[in-house]
Amino acid sequence: MSVIEKIKNAKGPLFTFELLPPLKGHSIERIYSAIDRLMEFEPAYINFTSHRNETSYKERPDGLLEKRVTRLRPGTIALAAAVKYKYNITVVPHILCGGFTREETENVLIEMNFLNIDDVLALRGDPQRGSRVFIPEKDGHRYTSELVAQIVDMNNGRYLEDTLRENTPTSFCIGVAGYPEKHGEAPNMETDIVNLKKKIDAGAQYIVTQMFFDNGKYFRFRDLCRDAGIHVPVIPGIKPVSALNDIKMLPKTFHIDLPNDLVKEVEKCSTDQEAREVGIEWTTMQSRELISRGAPGIHYYTLGRSDNIARIVKASF
Ligand code: FAD
Repeated sequence: MSVIEKIKNAKGPLFTFELLPPLKGHSIERIYSAIDRLMEFEPAYINFTSHRNETSYKERPDGLLEKRVTRLRPGTIALAAAVKYKYNITVVPHILCGGFTREETENVLIEMNFLNIDDVLALRGDPQRGSRVFIPEKDGHRYTSELVAQIVDMNNGRYLEDTLRENTPTSFCIGVAGYPEKHGEAPNMETDIVNLKKKIDAGAQYIVTQMFFDNGKYFRFRDLCRDAGIHVPVIPGIKPVSALNDIKMLPKTFHIDLPNDLVKEVEKCSTDQEAREVGIEWTTMQSRELISRGAPGIHYYTLGRSDNIARIVKASF
C-alpha cells in the first residue's frame, strides 16, 4: 500500500521514521538493529535519505590540488529494497535533483519500479558543500516541482526518449518537503508557500515537514497551506535533541529556531546523555500534542539511533 493510501485508510496517526544509509564501508547490520528496536511500534513506512556526491580537493606531493568526487553514503535504493523485503514494509527512498541529470533520475526510477518500490520523497538537495547557491547538473532539475513533473510523466507512461512506444506507466506516490519556519533560501513564508504549491500542483500527494521544536509553528504552517489551497496531508517531521551541541548545530544547519525553554533545559545539562533525556521529554510532549490535535502521523528523524525514538513512541502513541 502506498503512503497516501496508508494515510487515507489509517484509523489513527501513523508512526514513521527516517534512516540514513551507513557511511561508505559500514555495515547494513546497524540499520537493521535500529529498525529492530522500532518494529514493535508497527511503523507504517520507513524513509531512506539520499546523499549526493561531494567534491573535495587533496593536496598532492607536487603541491597541486587533486579533485576528488565521492559519495559518503551511497546505496539508498539498495538499502530501501533490502529493508522492504526483510521486514515486508513500505519504504520511501528520497531522490534528489542535485547531482543528477534527468536521464540518471529516470534510470533510478526504473530501478525502483523493477524492485516494486512505488513511493518516493522528491527533494532538491542542498547546495554543494562550499557553495552558497544550488547549481543543478547540466540537464538536471533546478526545483523539486520539475522533478515531481518528471515522475508524474513516468506515471503517465511518458519517458524522456519520445521515440519509445508502448511504455509501461509507473505508479509512484510522491511526497515533498515543507518548511514550517520557511526554507532557508526563501525570501519570505508567502513566497515559499507559493513554491510549495507548485510541487503539489505538479502532482505531489503529501508533504513532510522540516523538523520544528515549537508545535505552534506546525499548526500555523498547516493553516497557511490550507489558505493557499494546499489540501494534501501535512505530516509533521520532528527530531529529539540528542547532544549538547544540538542547540548550536540544529539552528545553523536547518534554519530553525529553538524555543527558549528547551535551550534553557539543555544548558543545564553537563553531558550528552543528560541532553538526550531532555530531548526525549520535549519530543514526547510535542508528539502528544500533535496527535491530540489531529496530525495524520508523526515522522521521526532518527539520524541512525533509535533507542530514544522507541521511548518517545511508547509514551506518545
Ligand atoms: P524546492 O522545493 O525546490 O525549494 C528550494 C527553494 O527554491 C525554496 O526556497 C523554494 O521557495 C524555492 N523555489 C521552489 N520552486 C521555485 C520556483 N519555481 N521558482 C523560484 N523559487 C522556487 N536533503 C538531502 O540531500 N537528502 C535527503 O534525503 C533529504 N531529505 C529531506 C527530507 C525532508 C522531510 C526535508 C524537509 C528535507 C530533506 N532534505 C534532504 C533537505 C532538502 O534537500 C533541502 O532543504 C533543500 O535545500 C530544499 O529541498 P526542497 O525539495 O524543499 O526544494
